[in-house]
Amino acid sequence: MAKKENKNIADLKFGATIEYAPAPESNAHIEIKKKYELFIGGEFVAPEKGKYFPTINPATEEKLADIAKADATDVDKAVKSARYAYDNYWSKISGSQRGKYLFRIARMLQERAREFAIIETMDGGKPIKEAKGFDVPMAINWFFYYAGWADKIEYAVPGKNPEALGVAGQVIPWNFPLMMAAWKIAPALAAGNCVVLKPAETTSLTALKLAELIQEAGVPPGVVNIVTGEGDTGAAIVNHADVDKVAFTGSTRVGKMIQKSLAGSGKKLTLELGGKGANIIFEDAAIDQAVEGVINAVYFNQGHVCCAGSRLFVQEGIAETVLQKLKDRLKTIRIGNPLDKNTDIGAINSKKQLDTVQDYINIGINEGGKLYQDKCSLPKKGFWCKPTIFTNVSQASRVVQEEIFGPVLTVQTFRTIDEVVELANNTYYGLSAGVWTDKGSKVFQVGNQLKAGVVWANSFNKFDATSPFGGFKESGFGREGGLHGLTAYLK
Ligand code: NAP
Ligand code: MG
Repeated sequence: MAKKENKNIADLKFGATIEYAPAPESNAHIEIKKKYELFIGGEFVAPEKGKYFPTINPATEEKLADIAKADATDVDKAVKSARYAYDNYWSKISGSQRGKYLFRIARMLQERAREFAIIETMDGGKPIKEAKGFDVPMAINWFFYYAGWADKIEYAVPGKNPEALGVAGQVIPWNFPLMMAAWKIAPALAAGNCVVLKPAETTSLTALKLAELIQEAGVPPGVVNIVTGEGDTGAAIVNHADVDKVAFTGSTRVGKMIQKSLAGSGKKLTLELGGKGANIIFEDAAIDQAVEGVINAVYFNQGHVCCAGSRLFVQEGIAETVLQKLKDRLKTIRIGNPLDKNTDIGAINSKKQLDTVQDYINIGINEGGKLYQDKCSLPKKGFWCKPTIFTNVSQASRVVQEEIFGPVLTVQTFRTIDEVVELANNTYYGLSAGVWTDKGSKVFQVGNQLKAGVVWANSFNKFDATSPFGGFKESGFGREGGLHGLTAYLK
């Protein structure tokens, strides 16, 4: 048997797919309740109007649970409970006491990492290896890191005697649900604020599980409130008169609406919005590493990544080689059951998002772009999109200019550094970029000219709680992570 397997592997040509036996992560012991209520004042309470909406598994289209829909009255209750907790408790205790709660949340999350990862995968469609290897560890990382800051706030801004802002209203998207909740809650609490957070309507489950964990951790009632619902619930939070700070992560379209509605209100605002990252490969780069980096940069999490490197620029001399290697690599990518440990690409988060991505693929074709998709088969049920490459595109192409938020890469070529810097910066966005070259000096020369909040060198999509992350231009303003992420919650 072993001999035969060896022979088969030896016979494989590069680019041929190795068939793996299915290796699904068991979800047998995972408890998902039929119905989830709002988490207000430390308790799970029914919404005033008694309305609920379903959340489904986008890989199977099966309903997972009903989620409470909060309206303005429920949001008002949540803000009042946050204010009460802030005035009477959270602002009175010491930083080290706040830190203890945050350390406790981090440790409990660590103990239950697998459960959170499985639920994240089922509710959102992302591969289990990402949920387990990226989302949940990052969320834990964020709680541990900011727990460490809680008793050192006066050193964060030396000589300024920083104070908490009060009540923070936080609204997050569906691409990294638990991680985004951690990015928002951990620095806010460490700095001494209380929060009202709304997860995205398609992925509320891990935020609600986190609410259960926060309750178990004995965090005082009202310090964290989680209200679920749709866009109008988010609007009720950001426009509530007693919210001191709004932190929003989501689309540029909604971000602009929020900025307009808050103008003159005196509320502090940070916006983490869309992106259209440039990934640049020079002729002197380690090509195989760069190709792997590009695959990661654009197809990771089905391309549902604000900082995705969805615009590839390849120096002319290696363009054909790089394109061929990308196509070869796509042949070996496994797309399917997100709970399978071998899966590289999971399900698109919702039917609505799949329609958006398909529309963009059609736009790309109609604009004269040359489409490449591998012949792989897709599951019958659920929302799926093949990893897609567009060549023969220009700066004027909509697929080059607009954020698609799906597994779609555009490829363009360049000759000189000046040319590629101009191409890369010719976008409304400014969140992320990548540079692949053998020369450190070139990394700095190019990196310094790119108008992006993050520039990765010979890597992509690397994060750490100690390092600030955020955008320029229409990608928003403010930073999350590191000291910058903490000061966003301080007076
Ligand atoms: P979205 O439509 O803007 O929604 C984001 C959140 O805002 C959701 O919870 C949404 O609720 C809520 N919302 C919708 N309308 C609102 C309103 N009028 N007022 C207040 N809240 C409102 O974005 P998305 O489609 O969920 O997420 C994808 C976008 O997020 C992409 O553009 C991506 O680049 C960006 N993103 C940016 C970062 C970053 O760090 N810069 C990170 C991740 C994602 P519903 O779920 O009910 O619509
Ligand atoms: Mg769902």
